[in-house]
Amino acid sequence: MLRATTAVLHERRSPRPRWSSVVRITTLGTSHGDHTYCRFNSSSLIEVGGRSYLVDAGEPVNGLMIRAGKTFSALRAVFITHMHEDHVGGLPDLIKALVKYPRETHCVDVFLPDPAGIAPLEGWLRAMNIRRPPDAVALRAVTGPGAVFDDGVMAVRAVPNRHMAGGRLPSYSYIIEAAGRRIAATGDLSADFSDFPAPVREAPCDLCLCEITHYPPEAAVPILATCPIRRMVFNHVHNPWHGPEGEARLIHAFASLPFPVEIAHDGDVFEID
Ligand SMILES: [Zn+2]
Ligand SMILES: [Zn+2]
Repeated sequence: MLRATTAVLHERRSPRPRWSSVVRITTLGTSHGDHTYCRFNSSSLIEVGGRSYLVDAGEPVNGLMIRAGKTFSALRAVFITHMHEDHVGGLPDLIKALVKYPRETHCVDVFLPDPAGIAPLEGWLRAMNIRRPPDAVALRAVTGPGAVFDDGVMAVRAVPNRHMAGGRLPSYSYIIEAAGRRIAATGDLSADFSDFPAPVREAPCDLCLCEITHYPPEAAVPILATCPIRRMVFNHVHNPWHGPEGEARLIHAFASLPFPVEIAHDGDVFEID
């Protein structure tokens, strides 16, 4: 059973990239800091041009990738928004899968928002006897605002927010450009929503993946109302917004916005074409 599953999911010979203008986002895990009865911790998979990229790697990202039928061989990079366990806790399991079934053609770049996290992660991997060949997975640091990554398919820019200790510890929103589309992944924000990323306020955004746990909707509505957003998807969903009644209350709270608002669930797929 295990052998058959891993053979399918970790095929050594990557399929030839199939270029497509469609950007597909799968919200693998959509909960807040804790798992809930219907949601696991944060992780979102972005697929474009035959490649895939993760924003955040909350537990159990590895299992959710497998359950969603996603091949690890397509994964090119992982971008962690901040060093809270619900966003980074699934990395050891994910890295184990990536080194156990290495790709022959490329290395997976894992970007941590705090350089201080790299050595402890390496130590924890060694303690669990996970050997990490540097040509399979590279641990890298986001060292400040600006360009983080560009592989010719997807470009990622970091915008600092104040979620961690009021901005004293590094925490980022990511602005993502791929296939002529612009996507924002806010990561966790501050309690007054004042650090909602400026690039989303200033230029059109095809899809904004925004957390909805750390601020009240009434703080966000006046700011969002002025943003040129085409589609808003809430993830990192707090307990009050769980279930049909909670979701209805949340949608009602944002009903005045001039763009569509959706609530992500674990395993939902959002396509931009
Ligand atoms: Zn969080
Ligand atoms: Zn957090």
